[in-house]
Amino acid sequence: MNPGAGGTLTVIGLGPGDESLLTGSARRALDAAEDIVGYYPYVARVPERPGLTRHASDNRVEVDRARHALQLAAAGRRVAVVSGGDPGVFAMAAALFEAVEHGEPGWRDLAITVEPGITAMLAAAARLGAPLGGDFCALSLSDNLKPWPVVTARLEAVLRADLVVALYNPISSARPWQLGAALEIAAGIRAPETPVMFARAISRPDEVIRVTPLAEASSAPADMATVVIIGASTTRLIPREGRQPFVYTSRKVEAA
Ligand code: SAH
Repeated sequence: MNPGAGGTLTVIGLGPGDESLLTGSARRALDAAEDIVGYYPYVARVPERPGLTRHASDNRVEVDRARHALQLAAAGRRVAVVSGGDPGVFAMAAALFEAVEHGEPGWRDLAITVEPGITAMLAAAARLGAPLGGDFCALSLSDNLKPWPVVTARLEAVLRADLVVALYNPISSARPWQLGAALEIAAGIRAPETPVMFARAISRPDEVIRVTPLAEASSAPADMATVVIIGASTTRLIPREGRQPFVYTSRKVEAA
């Protein structure tokens, strides 16, 4: 008999924070799990209950964590691997498939599924209006897994292409200067009045949103819970008395 029979592994997106932004399908997958595997703060978002074992680990051990989850599933357990936002956006799903590609041949036959979640840039965009209304892209500013010159080359290319750019992982204590360097590159390519949106801890109690012109963006506070969205030439502000402006990107682009 196949010792892995009955084991399953689901990679689950928990959304940006608030329980109401978790999909029904993700909720059902969490309820069915016997083991929850993930980074500490995400595992902490899944309440304890009888029959559930929680395996929390540090952020830097993603492929080891994926291998552990695969071993549990191969032993017949119902395993959930959890990520914030969407698990396929700069998160565990890619680490999991990397472990499958390089791991035990039998892991390819496991019942592996991915449950999508609302990623940070979409949750942030909804708060602001519709800043991702035209063409856009997402970049991670982290140079843990790719060299910094690759980050800057991609950033310059998408800024020149006039895409709205969502920057994930803008800053951390180990990477204090990358966001400033990225904003400087943006200031060399885009107009000073371009709206830059700093969306922090969206849907959590400590949520903060700021919109500033690119010329003043380097002084805006940001941390590792912030996603930064740089507008395109078609991104507009709709000012409102005493309230945060609406921000949207027109879907119309004039012929060059
Ligand atoms: N898989 C996650 C992203 C992981 S990378 C997702 O789909 O959202 C981690 C980065 O995501 C953070 O540095 C930050 O840029 C962003 N982020 C995650 N949750 C956020 C939230 N609630 N509000 C704002 N940004 C968030």
